[in-house]
Amino acid sequence: MSHLIRTDDFTKEEILALLDDAKSFGSKKFFTTLKDKLIITLFFENSTRTKSSFEIAIKRLGAQVVHLDVAKSSTKKGETLVDTAMNLDAMGPDAIIVRHQNAGVPKILSKHTKASIINAGDGAHAHPTQALLDLYTIREHFQGQALEGKRIAIVGDIKNSRVANSNIELLHRFGFDITLVAPPQFLPHTTLKTTHKLEEIVDKVDVIMSLRTQTERHSTQNYASLKDYASDFCITKKLVGDRDIIILHPGPVHRNIDIDDALLDDPRCKVLDQVSNGVNIRMAILKRLIAH
Ligand code: ASP
Repeated sequence: MSHLIRTDDFTKEEILALLDDAKSFGSKKFFTTLKDKLIITLFFENSTRTKSSFEIAIKRLGAQVVHLDVAKSSTKKGETLVDTAMNLDAMGPDAIIVRHQNAGVPKILSKHTKASIINAGDGAHAHPTQALLDLYTIREHFQGQALEGKRIAIVGDIKNSRVANSNIELLHRFGFDITLVAPPQFLPHTTLKTTHKLEEIVDKVDVIMSLRTQTERHSTQNYASLKDYASDFCITKKLVGDRDIIILHPGPVHRNIDIDDALLDDPRCKVLDQVSNGVNIRMAILKRLIAH
């Protein structure tokens, strides 16, 4: 049984096949590919897009879904996470989709379940389905052009972002030229190019990926205020001007802190395309992992 914990669980060839398969689903169509399959979602952290996107993907493929209401589950009565997962697994699901605030939880659970474990975000570690939908969105935009050598700036709280981690692994493997843009306290140790100034990269990139400040993972507030942060790192329409750049963000967007209102309304901003593409990518992932 195969699991999806990190983007590097798939080879480049497998990812290209996934992207093609995602495209083949088209939009708003229902299939019977996963008829008779059952999937459980287990979200210990809030989610708007990922959880509903998985649910829609499951329904479009004809499978059944059960959501465990974690707040009312026995983990609140002292049951260990592994025991919770093993008990759910004993009911015979084909996959369990897990989000947890602690890095490493999906990997641990995958050692105890027959079901495929799909990581829907674990702490600051990884968010593979987000990175795959980001790659899909970039590839769709640059239709037919080589991805190798495309220049991307990842901007924001990179150190605490699982989206950044997964994208750095994936985009690096696909030959992207990556620059990290953040204040010093948000930069991880890295061998990639880094800068603290958006003005330095805006003429040298094809894609800007903005990230939310991950306040839930900060033990202390390490910047003056979000407004101060925004004055240096908000991606604005004024900054981008008429340049041929696309803007990505995994959501939730802090309006006028991560990206300004004017740019959010601009067709170069692909935030809602990312959300739509997320359904197709998750359909392709579910099919790849459990359709047999
Ligand atoms: N939705 C993404 C995540 O779950 C990004 C974020 O929360 O900022 O990691």
